[in-house]
Amino acid sequence: MSRLLLISLLGALLALAGCQTTTSGGATGVARPQLMLVSSEQLERSAANSYTKLLADATEAGALNTNAALVKRVRAVAQRIAPQTAVFRADAPAWNWQVNVLESKALNAFCMPGGKIAFNSGLIEQLKLSDAEIAVVMGHEIAHALREHSREQVSQALAAQATIGIGAALLGLTQGATDLASAGYQSFIATRFSRDDEAEADRMGLELAARAGYDPRAGVSLWRKMMATQQGQRPPEFLSSHPADANRVRAIEELLPVVTPLYDAAKR
Ligand SMILES: [Zn+2]
Repeated sequence: MSRLLLISLLGALLALAGCQTTTSGGATGVARPQLMLVSSEQLERSAANSYTKLLADATEAGALNTNAALVKRVRAVAQRIAPQTAVFRADAPAWNWQVNVLESKALNAFCMPGGKIAFNSGLIEQLKLSDAEIAVVMGHEIAHALREHSREQVSQALAAQATIGIGAALLGLTQGATDLASAGYQSFIATRFSRDDEAEADRMGLELAARAGYDPRAGVSLWRKMMATQQGQRPPEFLSSHPADANRVRAIEELLPVVTPLYDAAKR
């Protein structure tokens, strides 16, 4: 296929599949159009399989939900946040949410597509996170899933592949998506999102935490703790994909007047 034909086909495909947005509503105003070339179902199926495998591996290593008190805390936060996702997506509260704690010193937490959440014990214990700080991290990770940032990332990779004419003629999209998504759960637990994705997740995550009745000022204390952690050493996994810096803290501070009324309303 000539490159020109491929590009015009891609153009037609983009126009068709083209730009949509996964979420709507909310006070924090995230409305960026997104390019989606694979289905939500494909990504969710792949994520569910990855999550099952991850839990099986953790069980075998004796690292799944070993601290009952910690599991209870993390699940309680999830139970309050999950219903609040309705503000951004009508379908999300009915997702098959799963929440587990992995015994690991690595500072990490994630929410795979479709609501499969895991927190590493190290993140909570080493940073001595309060429930509100756990809620801010969880809100952030859930926001990535609501916005389907992983699906967008796979789509962008496919689009890039197609434009430079490597492999993946357009009919091969499904196969390509399967390959990318089945690269193992590492691709879900250590995803590096773009700056825009991070900013969106910060905004929506803070709103989710506030609506669930958690003090959004915890966003500021959380990222200050993260900044302190990364000083003078190689940043842990979570911080290499989530850089903690003054800009991030400032953006969260600027959002407080928007989300604090939601927190006040939730407390009543
Ligand atoms: Zn993130």
